[in-house]
Amino acid sequence: MMTREAKKTITTHYIDGAFVESHGREVMDIVRPTDCQIIGRVTLADEEDTRHAIAAAKRAFATYSLSTKEGRAMLLRRLHEAVSKRLDDLTAAMVEEYGGVIQFAGLIVQSGVNAFLAAEKALHEMELTRSWENTTVTLEPVGVAGLITAWNANALFICLKLASAIAAGCTVVIKPSELSSLQTQVLVEALHEAELPNGLLNVVTGLGNVVGAELVRNPDIAKISFTGSVAVGETIMRDGAATMKRVTLELGGKSPTVLLDDAALDKAIPAALVLAFMNSGQACAAGTRLLVPKNRLHTVKQVILDAMRAFTVGDPADPKIAVGPMASQKQYERVQSYIRKGIEEGAEVLVGGEGHPDGLEAGYFVKPTVFVNVRNDMTIAQEEIFGPVLSVIAYDSEEEAIQIANDSKYGLHASVLGTDVQRARRVASQIRAGRVVINGMTDDPQAPWGGFKYSGVGREYGRYGIEAFLETRAILES
Ligand code: NAD
Repeated sequence: MMTREAKKTITTHYIDGAFVESHGREVMDIVRPTDCQIIGRVTLADEEDTRHAIAAAKRAFATYSLSTKEGRAMLLRRLHEAVSKRLDDLTAAMVEEYGGVIQFAGLIVQSGVNAFLAAEKALHEMELTRSWENTTVTLEPVGVAGLITAWNANALFICLKLASAIAAGCTVVIKPSELSSLQTQVLVEALHEAELPNGLLNVVTGLGNVVGAELVRNPDIAKISFTGSVAVGETIMRDGAATMKRVTLELGGKSPTVLLDDAALDKAIPAALVLAFMNSGQACAAGTRLLVPKNRLHTVKQVILDAMRAFTVGDPADPKIAVGPMASQKQYERVQSYIRKGIEEGAEVLVGGEGHPDGLEAGYFVKPTVFVNVRNDMTIAQEEIFGPVLSVIAYDSEEEAIQIANDSKYGLHASVLGTDVQRARRVASQIRAGRVVINGMTDDPQAPWGGFKYSGVGREYGRYGIEAFLETRAILES
């Protein structure tokens, strides 16, 4: 359906320092999730656009790979300055394009902006050359990198991966999510203002099985850094093997929140719900399994019922709203099908359930849902739903809580909530996940991010993120 609003039309890609018309012929609608209106159109790149971008990045690599730490640091500062200026525009594009709630979208964009200075700091602290006796070891840029992102925090992923690659001396071809074209356009306009050397940064928006697949199979791409689903991550690992790609894979999660029996529920339950429903539940790190001591279950249910009143659904541009629409029809249906599955498998709906919330039938809105009486072997406790659906699972002992937390194919993120911090640390140290937060969501741009098990391969952020774009060379003199 068409509206009378001005529609945005995107027909260019960013190649070799300039916005160039797409060679691709496929055009995709951009649909606003709050009311399913078409708000724009984007021309999708094809393989030829992708190969042009790769060729530009390859030419630029010949020079940029020789850059000094100081030269790279200067570019990172320029990028930070350029993107900072568009913070509000970027947030607004995220709110409109995928229905991200404004408070969370703002935090995501701010983390993206911070990524450049965080990478500069990490680079400054890294030893890129070590020598002893007749041996010199240097950390060298791995080559041209293909950066492939998911839609749920596209601007952050681009900034994060770009910052690490630039710090390492790599040139890049970015394939943003095709569902993030508006945000990408604003971000690339901002990045252009940083006046990077031509070819260092190239951005081609297109489909995964077209642009993404070309990046994965092209022999001139040395490294793929990917954020997205396990299914696509498996494809990248398998297909990338033919050209010996280095891969970083940031994949899905089914993160546990372990509520210890000494937790102060008035603080711990709202914290657990924030973890579950951040980014409207469309977050890889979402704490979607809440493990509760059996002897506190009754009280916990009451506190959840009370605290859920703060998790209002509605217009994501309204700062009072906690949960926005799902990003797409596909996402809406996916969440509905899991809620149905939970009911079929015998879990009990404490809050929420199937269908649209009242008055929000026009968009992809779902009801934030809390299930109780969930067993950890149920589908809703094992599979990533990627929506605002929380499963409450009861446990008898601390050992059992740890066992349930680890009984998952995933291992991206986890949380422990409790008053005795020594005990919370002891529990945290037994959870097999790449990041465990104690007493609520928090961040550190120098701390690694990434998953155990099916949650991925490798790490991002800080020096860990930069190391992922480096090779080691030793020169030995006789
Ligand atoms: P997705 O895997 O469908 O798509 C991710 C990207 O891969 C998109 O740009 C897509 O176009 C591209 N792609 C698709 N097929 C491809 C192919 N054959 N070759 C190369 N690229 C291809 O994921 P999504 O729906 O965009 O994002 C949701 C998923 O991302 C969830 O599973 C979520 O947990 C995960 N995620 C992980 C992290 C993390 O940091 N670990 C962060 C955010 C999202």
